[in-house]
Amino acid sequence: LQNRRQHDLWKAIRTVPDFPKPGIDFYDITPLLLDHVDEVIDGMLAALPEGLLEQIDCFVAVEARGFVFASLLSGRLGKGMVLLRKPGKLPPPVANKSYALEYGSDTLEIQGGMAPRKVLLVDDILATGGTLTTAYHLCQEAGHDVAGVLVLLDLVDLHKPFPVPVYTVLEG
Ligand code: AMP
Repeated sequence: LQNRRQHDLWKAIRTVPDFPKPGIDFYDITPLLLDHVDEVIDGMLAALPEGLLEQIDCFVAVEARGFVFASLLSGRLGKGMVLLRKPGKLPPPVANKSYALEYGSDTLEIQGGMAPRKVLLVDDILATGGTLTTAYHLCQEAGHDVAGVLVLLDLVDLHKPFPVPVYTVLEG
């Protein structure tokens, strides 16, 4: 079932060469949100080992596409989420970190003063890993216990091994 699902989901992803910069193959996952949203969430849940969901308290979502996937998962499971945001969006107290991207650089912020939770990090694509590594460190510094990372697509050749398990529906 997961193989069939992976095949269908891959077909719906549009690869756009040289966007947003020359040399980058951009994976446009928006057609999946439009026409395959249930299969995407079924696939993400099926990518997790048995028992993991019962262990986690909430999802940690990375702005912006991570918000979409975490919201859908959250709605299915009735677990809450913490939002990691671009700078200047969260009121204090916040902690932040800057990092390099496959194209450009960025900063993420997490709200402080939260009770520690066991969390699962959620985003759409793991590329260089800069974003999710930063998210991981921000969570750790905030006292949260990161059980793993859940993405729709893992571009495995673009990043180093991750400090926690990476669960993915698709590999590129
Ligand atoms: P990274 O920090 O390099 O792992 O990339 C993090 C974010 O950038 C992902 O969550 C995606 O939203 C976006 N991204 C990076 N590379 C790509 C790509 N080739 N196609 C589409 N989105 C990408």
